[in-house]
Amino acid sequence: MSSLLDEYSRQLSNCTWCPKLCRFSCPVAQAEHSETVTPWFKMTLAQMVRQGGIDAGSDAAEVFLHCLGCLHCREYCKHENNVPEVLMAARAVSQERGPAPGVSEVLEKMRYSGNPWGDAIMDNLHEAVDTKFLVDEAQVVIFAGCQALRRPERHLTPVLSLLDLLDVDYVGVHGGDSQCCGAPLWFAGDREGFAQNASKLRASFGNAKKVISLCPTCAYVLKGGLGNEVLRDGTQVVTLDEFILPLVRKTPPAARLDASIAFHDPCYLTRYLDRGPQVRELIGMVSGNDLIETDWSAKDATCCGGGGGVPYFLPEVAKAAADQRLSQLQTTGAQSIVTACPNCVRQLDREGKTQVMDLAELILEAYSCNK
Ligand code: SF4
Ligand code: SF4
Repeated sequence: MSSLLDEYSRQLSNCTWCPKLCRFSCPVAQAEHSETVTPWFKMTLAQMVRQGGIDAGSDAAEVFLHCLGCLHCREYCKHENNVPEVLMAARAVSQERGPAPGVSEVLEKMRYSGNPWGDAIMDNLHEAVDTKFLVDEAQVVIFAGCQALRRPERHLTPVLSLLDLLDVDYVGVHGGDSQCCGAPLWFAGDREGFAQNASKLRASFGNAKKVISLCPTCAYVLKGGLGNEVLRDGTQVVTLDEFILPLVRKTPPAARLDASIAFHDPCYLTRYLDRGPQVRELIGMVSGNDLIETDWSAKDATCCGGGGGVPYFLPEVAKAAADQRLSQLQTTGAQSIVTACPNCVRQLDREGKTQVMDLAELILEAYSCNK
């Protein structure tokens, strides 16, 4: 498995000799005020593991967990290094030596509940969704993902209500036992577990030809973005904004909301899937006021701390990163923060001072006001 890091020898070498040009962009290094967790140090450590200079277990394994997978560092890298991809490989190498502190617990929760939190998300799904939506024959299905199913009333119910208002009656909801895209297993370095989860997921999608993902991370994983096939060849995966945008273009709300909104870009939506402009167009069609941008915005947006498995491996680090991002968003003076990811909502909606909305909640409000 240590040969896994050999695939990244060029990137590891680039970082080792770099004067830390991307240091300031790393939300973990900023939140922790630590040199040990800068992209440069984490990559240098991975290079030392690759070259056999240090052991992949224990201390090194813990350091590799301090990455949100946000890809912000790549925006400032002349080599366009994909630091999180390399660090996830380093986690997989470490995992071979035994799970890092905090990782075993998460893997255990994944085993008994199918999600990294250990929550009864299948009960939530069946409580929130009418059985008429849970049909195997549906060719277009919503994949909620484990994070959205922790609070379906915020992330799934509004989508179903919105589709109803837009007269869309052909969309079902994926009701299979596998409700996690497998990203937590990948983040934990458990590649075998990820592959097993992927084959369960593939089998559970029945006739689906199009999958609407409520979470951009799930969308990226289901599209095969991690380099491993997850769904059957030819299954189209779209993000929620991608599915809704043409519908709203065709039937815009009768009047736009008078809202003061700052948008928080989810890393997977904007940096990985490049949907920043389209999601802004969508918000612009339901809000009558210009979107308020933070100093760190679009492809340069700071991560909310919700990525890379950090919320369940290192919750205090995730919280520090969330506080940092929340403060940037609140500085704009906007009355509401809108985002398009259940993970980001959970990270940012914790102190109740500023309203935080998921995209579907905002759009539903616009159509509901104008009924
Ligand atoms: S990712 Fe690029 S900018 Fe950052 S330390 Fe490595 S080589 Fe330097
Ligand atoms: S992906 Fe994000 S958290 Fe990870 S090293 Fe790069 S900037 Fe830091």
